Amino acid sequence: MLEECSRVYAEVDLDAIKYNLENIRASIADGVKVTAVIKADGYGHGAVPIARIMEDIDYVWGYATATAEEAFELRDAGIKKPILVLGYTFPYAYARMLREGIRPAVFRVDMLDELCERVRKYRAQGFEGKMPIHIAVDTGMSRIGVRADDFGAGFIKEAMSRDELEVEGIFTHFARADEADLTNALEREKAFSDFLDRLCKENGHKIPIQHCANSASIISIPSAEMDMVRAGIILYGLWPSEEVPRDKIQLRPALSLHSHIVYIKDVPEGTPVSYGGTFVTDRMTRIATIPVGYSDGYPRSLSNKGYVLIHGQKARILGRVCMDQFMVDITEIPEAKEGDEVILIGRDGDEVITMEELGDMSHRFNYELVCDINKRVPRIYFENGKPCK
Ligand SMILES: *Cc1c(COP(=O)(O)O)cnc(C)c1O
Repeated sequence: MLEECSRVYAEVDLDAIKYNLENIRASIADGVKVTAVIKADGYGHGAVPIARIMEDIDYVWGYATATAEEAFELRDAGIKKPILVLGYTFPYAYARMLREGIRPAVFRVDMLDELCERVRKYRAQGFEGKMPIHIAVDTGMSRIGVRADDFGAGFIKEAMSRDELEVEGIFTHFARADEADLTNALEREKAFSDFLDRLCKENGHKIPIQHCANSASIISIPSAEMDMVRAGIILYGLWPSEEVPRDKIQLRPALSLHSHIVYIKDVPEGTPVSYGGTFVTDRMTRIATIPVGYSDGYPRSLSNKGYVLIHGQKARILGRVCMDQFMVDITEIPEAKEGDEVILIGRDGDEVITMEELGDMSHRFNYELVCDINKRVPRIYFENGKPCK
């Protein structure tokens, strides 16, 4: 490990991501494609290295990002497969998306005209194709997407009638697929498939790529596979929620977070620790300072609550987590010394701190935590069990 990464680094195990992807593949029907959701920089793991390991896998259709910029970053890195931008994309990005095979999610009437205009301009320069788009349908999020009603059907008919556009896909997103009770999700799935049947009848053909399954649906709702599934959180080995069954798919967390002790001191009973003195020692205490804080994405709400692993043992957090440092109790870990490794997320011997546990301890959400591990934290990638570039 490079000394530059001693303060803190996230280790990303690309083998775990491949393992999760293969298990996703094994859990869906033959012929169903996978889109790797690598928005928010691959849920904090790094979108480009993750896309790179999937470029040659034929059951991976492509990638989904949240924004056009995230898609451009992948193209800048030489990533070639199709990319779908899941959120609304503003018109400034359409020309580049068209040139680079990046599909927008389409649901606003003005998007049709704006997109067609870009295609016509590009055609004037010799381009002969159409712009592939995916229609977003709202079946219960009330977020983006046309509703599965007459207006929605009319909108899609209009999109399909445009010579400049190719309605390659249509998708929806479930609000409640991660619950133990799937009544709502199944009802929404039926509403979506009924709508797809209607569109097929009215337009005389099926839209080629119909998709609705996120991670929770991949695990719990096999009927929602359709033509393609969108795998997000499970790709990284994390669980969509506590209610999703754990026995249907095997996952391996890909990310662990490491640091090193930078200072150790013994303090007497009655010594306050960190801002506000919210913790006061009740005995002679050996304190270790860890050079990581909430500006790295380590939650401040772990103050006086969380713990880290040192020599395979738990060391609890004393006082408030600061912006760039926090303190832990190592009184019971006498072998600990300055420079020793600290595991903030991951396994150390028999002990493990999962992202889900960290979510519980900090009263936050595993999706949120992993996205919060920010740029100040270098990522070190492992492939075939070895560090790689
Ligand atoms: C983020 C997102 C996903 C992936 O969700 P996971 O729960 O991480 O699998 C799928 N589809 C859409 C539209 C999304 O926004």
